[in-house]
Amino acid sequence: MFSYRHAFHAGNHADVLKHSMLLAILQYLTQKEAALAVLDTHAGAGLYRLDGDYASTSGEAADGILRLEQAEKLAPLLQDYVDAVRSFNAGPRILAYPGSPFLAQQQLRPHDKLKLFELHPTDMRSLSGNVAQLEAGRQVQVLHEDGFEGVKKFLPPPSRRGLLLCDPSYEIKTDYMKVADMVADGLKRFPTGTYAVWYPIIPRPEAHELPRRLRTMATKAGKGWLHATLTVKSSKISSNLQGEKKRPGLPASGMFVVNPPYTLQAQLKAALPQMVELLRQDSNAGFTLESAGV
Ligand code: SAM
Repeated sequence: MFSYRHAFHAGNHADVLKHSMLLAILQYLTQKEAALAVLDTHAGAGLYRLDGDYASTSGEAADGILRLEQAEKLAPLLQDYVDAVRSFNAGPRILAYPGSPFLAQQQLRPHDKLKLFELHPTDMRSLSGNVAQLEAGRQVQVLHEDGFEGVKKFLPPPSRRGLLLCDPSYEIKTDYMKVADMVADGLKRFPTGTYAVWYPIIPRPEAHELPRRLRTMATKAGKGWLHATLTVKSSKISSNLQGEKKRPGLPASGMFVVNPPYTLQAQLKAALPQMVELLRQDSNAGFTLESAGV
């Protein structure tokens, strides 16, 4: 089965990019009164302890959300994100970290809906337990299904307003293709939906190909798109004095959004340079931001 567990990575630089953008998108989409459907195809456990066994083993949040927590003045997109994360913590320190299901649910109004897909049995159990504590009733549905396939039955949503977040672990090479196929199918079923895809930037052809495919697909469909990437360090494998090779861990990631809010580009223009400044691990840190038709 899968070995990826998001608990090891909760609150890292990739989560900062993904979750701050997710929040900004949802803030925009919930301005209109009409009901919104949010589909999270790869939900994870929903809520994580940063002082728990998993997260403290890797300590990735220390180079992610916890660096932002200490910053003095943040761009509005980042300040909203840090405030949202803080609201899950009773004390002054950030010890609990909300994953995409909890960040999304917090933004929703009573008439909005959230569908969560999770395939890993352990994460599924944690997710179900965490969601039960929200007492959100029928607003939130947890499905132990393949998100790539399962999402189809909810497209288009009855209200014709929706956001699909696709955030797989990309453990299996074929996930890259499945993401592209799912967005293509989604755009046929629900052309006006917003589609947000997170992906890792790693030395693997499929990872480089995915944003290119999404851009071509959006352009051909006549849809606006936005693509943001954040790099925090070099992707090169280094060796120590004994010649032992050291993998750098995830150096960079991207979010590709089809039909993004028109406000997102300006928000990211202010926030991405600050993400680089605060999250940089070496001199290779940087960002890119491009969009069309928005
Ligand atoms: N979206 C979450 C967040 O931002 O908090 C993190 C998700 S994590 C990167 C990916 C999750 O997808 C893992 O928990 C994994 O078990 C689950 N998963 C892997 N393949 C899946 C599939 N085909 N359908 C649904 N979930 C899957």
